Amino acid sequence: MNKLLMTPGPTNVPERVIKKISQGMLHHRTKEYSKIFGELNERLKYVFQTKNSVLTFPSSGTGGLEAALVNSFSKGDKILAVSIGDFGDRFIKIAKTYGLDVDEIKIPWGSAVTIDKIKEKLTDEHKGLIITHNETSTAAVNPIKEIGEFLKNKNILFIVDAVSSLGGIDIKMDDWGIDVLVTASQKALMSPPGLAFIGVSEKALESAEKSNLPKFYFDFLNAKKFLDKENPENPYTPAVPLIVGANEALKMIEEEGLENVFLRHKNLANKFREEVKKMGLTLFTDPNAFSNTVTAINIEDGKASFIKENLEKNYGIIIAGGQGYTKGKLIRIGHMGYVNEEMIDRTLNALKNSI
Ligand SMILES: *Cc1c(COP(=O)(O)O)cnc(C)c1O
Repeated sequence: MNKLLMTPGPTNVPERVIKKISQGMLHHRTKEYSKIFGELNERLKYVFQTKNSVLTFPSSGTGGLEAALVNSFSKGDKILAVSIGDFGDRFIKIAKTYGLDVDEIKIPWGSAVTIDKIKEKLTDEHKGLIITHNETSTAAVNPIKEIGEFLKNKNILFIVDAVSSLGGIDIKMDDWGIDVLVTASQKALMSPPGLAFIGVSEKALESAEKSNLPKFYFDFLNAKKFLDKENPENPYTPAVPLIVGANEALKMIEEEGLENVFLRHKNLANKFREEVKKMGLTLFTDPNAFSNTVTAINIEDGKASFIKENLEKNYGIIIAGGQGYTKGKLIRIGHMGYVNEEMIDRTLNALKNSI
């Protein structure tokens, strides 16, 4: 039996996508591949809401975050970062690994940063701001639009981790002035794990020219050079089956319409939260920062692993637990990507019978 993946990634992959992937291997230096890769690139621009190039690398989301940093900065550059949970902290850890000088804004888990906090901490010395859009460990969403408005016309790179939001929660790369926007295939984009997609603004590409952090495989300028060929391709052997699959998944998003996709996520998230509260459970996240792709539910100590196991064993539903200090105290349920009301109802019913 196919398990229902109600986790915040990887998520369910539609049959249509699986079928495309199973059609057999293409060679990556053929026109046939170029055509598909070219289509994928146009569709990525649509979901990123951008005219910029969106680069594709074989990697999970974390590799995408690393690529964003090594192409944007030079050793010792000072950047501002927002820590609101485990993924924001991972982004900071990668930055420190490469010798960046990171100033951190620390926000209690479950809440979002405020624009006032950003205004208070940002100085002319900061070369970049790195931030998570949808903090998957706490189910809280940061106000990217407002931050983008504040940063407009400032000499700073605005780098956003939208791994668990892009394709589920509205994020407008161009309108909101985002310079580097990172996501991955296995969350809201309904594809198997293994691809990182990275939107890069003109400003980001200019910074990539100057950046001196070590990079070879994850080189933006090299990837862009191959992408811009008359028949677009990749510098090295790409993850062909995943690219074929992602192209089909994005075609499905295009057919549904991005606005409808966002509305579906919003409606399902609202329903899910309301029904969870009716069970007498409480939500971990500040209601002002609720996420439409993941819900974090408080669970009394010791019961989280029973609930997780029971959902898997008796209902074939996979969910996630807490990360960091919330381990054992939370369950997190993803409702992103290929998700519908029937799946939400099935999960609610299973949860009700397991608490
Ligand atoms: C899933 C996720 C990532 C990346 O995780 P990978 O396992 O490397 O794909 C990064 N940031 C956020 C917010 C995520 O949800």
